[in-house]
Amino acid sequence: MLIQVALAVPLFRHFDYLPMASGLPVIGARVLVPFGAQKLVGIVIGHIDEAQSEVPKNKLKAILSVIDDEPIFDDRLLSLANWLSNYYHYPLGDVLSVMMPKLIRQGKPLDLLTTHWRILPSATEADLPARAHKQQAQFAMLKLHGEHGASEDVLLMEGMERSFLTMLEKKGMIERFEKPKAPPKPVSLAKLPLTLTGEQQAVVDAVIGAHESQSYAGILLNGITGSGKTEVYLQAMQHVLEAGQQVLILVPEIGLTPQTRARFASRFAANIVLLHSAMNPTHRLQGWQDCKSGHAQIVIGTRSTILYPFTNLGLIVVDEAHDSSYKQQDSLRYHAADVALYRGAGLKIPVILGSATPSLEHLKLVDDGKLSEYQLLKRAGGASTAKMKLIDARLQSTYQQTTPDGERYNTGLTDALIDAIRRTLDAGEQVLIFLNRRGYAPILLCEACGWQADCPRCDAHLTVHFSNQLINQGNLSQSYLKCHHCDWQSYIPPVCPDCQSQNLDARGMGTTRLSENLHAIFGNPQTSKTVYPIIQIDRDTTRRKDSWEKIYRQINEGKPAILVGTQMVAKGHHFPNVTLVCLPNADRGFLSADFRSPEHTAQLMIQVAGRAGRGDKAGQVLIQTLQPENPLLLKLIRDGYLPFAQALLAERKVMGLPPYRFAALVRCEAKTLAAANQALKDAIAILPKPHHLAVLGPIDAPMTKKNSRYHVQLLLLAKERRQLHHVLNHWWSQVLQLPSAKYLKLTLDIDPISW
Ligand code: ADP
Ligand code: ZN
Ligand code: ZN
Repeated sequence: MLIQVALAVPLFRHFDYLPMASGLPVIGARVLVPFGAQKLVGIVIGHIDEAQSEVPKNKLKAILSVIDDEPIFDDRLLSLANWLSNYYHYPLGDVLSVMMPKLIRQGKPLDLLTTHWRILPSATEADLPARAHKQQAQFAMLKLHGEHGASEDVLLMEGMERSFLTMLEKKGMIERFEKPKAPPKPVSLAKLPLTLTGEQQAVVDAVIGAHESQSYAGILLNGITGSGKTEVYLQAMQHVLEAGQQVLILVPEIGLTPQTRARFASRFAANIVLLHSAMNPTHRLQGWQDCKSGHAQIVIGTRSTILYPFTNLGLIVVDEAHDSSYKQQDSLRYHAADVALYRGAGLKIPVILGSATPSLEHLKLVDDGKLSEYQLLKRAGGASTAKMKLIDARLQSTYQQTTPDGERYNTGLTDALIDAIRRTLDAGEQVLIFLNRRGYAPILLCEACGWQADCPRCDAHLTVHFSNQLINQGNLSQSYLKCHHCDWQSYIPPVCPDCQSQNLDARGMGTTRLSENLHAIFGNPQTSKTVYPIIQIDRDTTRRKDSWEKIYRQINEGKPAILVGTQMVAKGHHFPNVTLVCLPNADRGFLSADFRSPEHTAQLMIQVAGRAGRGDKAGQVLIQTLQPENPLLLKLIRDGYLPFAQALLAERKVMGLPPYRFAALVRCEAKTLAAANQALKDAIAILPKPHHLAVLGPIDAPMTKKNSRYHVQLLLLAKERRQLHHVLNHWWSQVLQLPSAKYLKLTLDIDPISW
């Protein structure tokens, strides 16, 4: 017999190897094999007869070692991998590689033991300095676990510090030992559930019904912010957890705040595992193993968690299912919500897609009868829905501010907006201003000759990063130009490089500039009687590890303040004292060339608006706009998201765009525009005929030049998914073999979410 091995090499084929003398490794196990001059970790995907191999026997090499005795990919997971490979037209070996955490991919043996700590019989409190209260307290904590000690995980969760453990180990007071993980205790309720409303109960009943009949159910839970979606998840989960099964909750990256875990932990006494991108490889490996072994009962994770192994999964929840972070944008370009539905159907378990602003794709699945829709249209617990109001920035004068030198400048905020902010602050409440652009200003312009500071590597302006506050403190390194696409940086030129004029002007407004303007109006003791803090929340101000938590704490103290934030603040957060949300120019996306832009803009606006009045106070949302007659904007404000989304769907149908067409996007990246175009032209030339597809391109990608590389794309649209895959099955691997494709990067994106 020979062993078929899938390797992470970009070829649509697997490789045959001779077994070692010790026998055949099981299917789904990792093996180490020779590959050219390299040694690679691969997955056994089959056993075949020698006669079936295309390779002559004397050319075959033997595997070097077997890493796993038991499969790490069981049949179910292997069939998921095969489906992903076929659906996304991505080589199986690469798919399997994406599905493994780094350490597993590198061949690290499964680690089924966990570190435990116990106090040595000879050690007592007296060995520690009497006045070291913290050490005494931590020692007492460890002592509570008695002579058998406790696992490091448990101790860390209880607040023990790792440095303390290693210090005591050095002092010879405690010792570490390895022990297999104990099987998890049955989940119990730590807190009583709320009494559900009729609307909520209907969803929970649907989940329970599917679970009890062991059948798949795809559920779209369409509920406005604060309508009690999370309570629905919790009660649906309870049923599944009490039956001894695992629950997976997917969340967008941004929502992974400490409260996400706290909310679930306060309801259930259960093993909860968090999986997100900031974890180190060891923790990720542990999390992966906990999912696989069943030790994890509740798993809260970001996108890639949908590819993890589970022994006994009973429910999948995809929270904020419309969020674009669920779509992987490189290598295997999967959409976690789609994979969740596929997995749910295979496992015969319910899947809930929850959202306040469902994507058009999901609404279309409801129309097609593939998802059942449940709506929660009122806020739970009595809070009222925030009112949305437009401010016509063409009619309203904008607020002028005077610098200390007596110069007047425009703040970009209308008088009406400033008034509303002031009233809210004076009432002791908080304001959130949403501006999806960090930095000081998006453009540096020469007023004399029209020169603009552009990135030398991208088709993009450089963003001005600048802060009066920091410069006044002598911190000049805080002022620079930066490309937000490739991170290229330079200093701000003192004069125009083209005409030497000194009239360089920062145009437009980023969060730093807005914060400084607001500071001058509301936070400066020289200009205002009551001073309010201005809290800027974006990637620049939250880069340091604990800065976001600090900001969070400050906000949750509830004192009047203005929060200025990018989309970081839009999702999931609960700021109970925010009663006014302002969007000074969030509606710009309605004018973008991308046909998906209105949908995404509206989703973001509704998400941000949902931050208003989440506590017991009513909220207000003010949208400052230069295009108050824009029909899409009006529809959204007057009728709400769903009628807006239905109108967009009708438009897409007429125009023959997704979700009424099935799309595949071929992207080509090359050193020259000509090479990129040529490869795509050659690709078109070898399309099978007749192919029944609409072929658009090659056309320049939205940002043609990025990081000194040129991007061109080709869009294929089909009326039926079958047609699209039929063509791609043969064509795509041929495209990759084209002579003109040799020295450039070609990628395929199925169901792309932007082009
Ligand atoms: P969502 O997840 O849709 O934003 P949440 O589940 O967070 O909504 O609910 C919003 C608030 O309403 C929470 O404070 C929650 O405790 C409360 N709530 C939810 N369901 C109920 C209910 N059935 N009865 C009373 N309060 C509820
Ligand atoms: Zn100039
Ligand atoms: Zn750039």
